[in-house]
Amino acid sequence: MFRFSQRGAIEYLEIEELSELDFLTHAFCTRRGGVSTGPYESLNLGFLAGDRAEDVRRNRILVEEAFGIPNGQLILMRQVHGDRIRVLDGDEPLPEGLPECDGLISDRPGVALAVKTADCVPLFFVDRARRIIGAAHAGWRGTARGIATAMVEILAGRFSSRREDLVAVIGPAIGPCCYQVDVPVFSAFSGRPGADRFLHPCKELGRWMADLALANRLQIREAGVPSENIFSAGLCTACRQDLFFSHRAGGGHAGRQINLLMLKRGG
Ligand SMILES: [Zn+2]
Repeated sequence: MFRFSQRGAIEYLEIEELSELDFLTHAFCTRRGGVSTGPYESLNLGFLAGDRAEDVRRNRILVEEAFGIPNGQLILMRQVHGDRIRVLDGDEPLPEGLPECDGLISDRPGVALAVKTADCVPLFFVDRARRIIGAAHAGWRGTARGIATAMVEILAGRFSSRREDLVAVIGPAIGPCCYQVDVPVFSAFSGRPGADRFLHPCKELGRWMADLALANRLQIREAGVPSENIFSAGLCTACRQDLFFSHRAGGGHAGRQINLLMLKRGG
C-alpha cells in the first residue's frame, strides 16, 4: 500500500512493501519541499533553462540530507530515453558526472539510485533475498525498447536474482486519463503483447490514450516477476500538478521530481 510521508519539508510517496525492508531507503518524491520558484516550484532536480542552478543544487542537498545519502553518492543519470543500464557493483569507482543511461542497478550500500521524471514512469526493482536494487526511467521509447525487461534480465543473469524474489514498483506517471499519443507511439507498440490493453483509440483518428504504467506492469510480468510482487502508484502526474511536475500539463515548462532507492549502510 502506498502512503504519503514527509522528511524535513520534503513530501514523498512510499510503499509499505518496500518500507518494511529494513535494509532499504526509498522515496517517490513529490515536487514539494524544495527552494525553486515559478513553474519549477519547488523540489526541481533538473538543470533546466529557466530554473536557477543554485536552487537545483540546493534541492539536491536537501534530498541528500533528508534521506541520509552520503556526500557524492546520489547517482543521477543523463536520461536519454534508451534502454542502456549501468551496473554499479564491486569496488568500481562511482561514475563522475552523469552516466548516460536510463537504468541503474547496484548492490552497494550507501549508493542512492535516482530517476528524474515529469510524466515518464519511474521503476524500482528490489531483490529482497540478495539485496540488489535497480531504478529505471521508462518513457514511451524506453518502454517500447523493453527497459523493464532488460532490468529483470540483468538482475537474473548477472546477480542470479530469482524472479520470485523481485519486487517491482511503478511510481507516479502520466496516466491513461491524460496521455494522448499519435501514430509513431502506436507503431512502436504494435504487435506487443497486451498492446490492446494499454493503448485505447480516441474518437479522433490516429490518436490513442496510452497507459505506460500498465505497459510496464505487463512487461515485468512477462519477464517472470509474479503479479503479486508488482505494485503501481496509480497517481497521474498531469492530473496532480499540485503534487508532481508534468511535462505535458506544464506545456513543456516543468521541473523534474526525483525518485530514489538506496541500500542502507550497515544494514
Ligand atoms: Zn491524468
